[in-house]
Amino acid sequence: MLIATPTERSIYVGRFAPSPTGELHQGSLLAAVVSYLEAKQQSGKWLVRMEDLDPPREQAGAASTILRSLEAHGLNWDGSVLFQSSRAAAYAETLHWLDQQHLTFACTCTRQRMIDLHGVYDGHCRFQPPTDQSQAAAIRLKINSNRIEYNDLYQGFQHQELQRDLGDFILRRKDGLIAYQLAVVVDDIFQGITHVVRGSDLIDSTPRQLFIFDTLKAARPTYAHVPIIVDHDGQKLSKQTFAEPLNDKHSKANLMGVLQRLKMNPPDDLAANHNDDILSWAIEHWRRDYMPNQLRFKHNGNSDRK
Ligand code: GLU
Ligand code: ZN
Repeated sequence: MLIATPTERSIYVGRFAPSPTGELHQGSLLAAVVSYLEAKQQSGKWLVRMEDLDPPREQAGAASTILRSLEAHGLNWDGSVLFQSSRAAAYAETLHWLDQQHLTFACTCTRQRMIDLHGVYDGHCRFQPPTDQSQAAAIRLKINSNRIEYNDLYQGFQHQELQRDLGDFILRRKDGLIAYQLAVVVDDIFQGITHVVRGSDLIDSTPRQLFIFDTLKAARPTYAHVPIIVDHDGQKLSKQTFAEPLNDKHSKANLMGVLQRLKMNPPDDLAANHNDDILSWAIEHWRRDYMPNQLRFKHNGNSDRK
């Protein structure tokens, strides 16, 4: 149907999808390495997608710094990098298709109104369409199914009552920016992604994404959410909290750090090898049960079971 022709689905296609809002740090490296190991162990493909859809949040040069840093760590992707900034037509086409199916509606509700509703949309504009066509409007997706369920490879059974907990959610913002939820699904379909391995900070988005897959009648990928690394106050290490960027000159130590955090017990002399050898060792020795089923790692490297 819509959204161009999806790449033929192979057995395993994984991806790493950074946003160019800053440099990679230990937490993003962990997610990148795990998604790489999962893909390579299955003889699958590992793609990189640059999620450069939100220019105000981006940092000049970050996209190329991230790509260079992945390369410096031996994390070589298959094919070429897909930049979301080049995908406007695909997002527009999908929105058009959804509109034709009467699955979306225009919403002119104010930010204040959403705050008053505590973030759960009440269907106001779905049932009373805005009459003033000249007013800037967001586009929301009608949620017609309630419970979304899936099995996360690391976190186990997950579910959410979308209608009750969230309501009809935004696919395109009032200012015209495409919502992350839509872009990520359109591109996961387009790239034939079979496995989404990413940080657990995104786990709450997954039911919305699954709902979009279902609505577009596309096959759902399998999800696996990697614990995020938090600092001593429990805050996610992120570019926003100024987590130290990775030093590419210490790539071997950084990779060894990831394997140690995962308690893979890499032999000490592995660090004397090239990145490629460290990664080959890790591909050979990675077992899914190394992944603790928890959402967080403490920054000191000890995994703390909840
Ligand atoms: N671009 C998102 C981020 O960096 C990740 C998207 C995803 O993996 O689904 O937080
Ligand atoms: Zn509204």
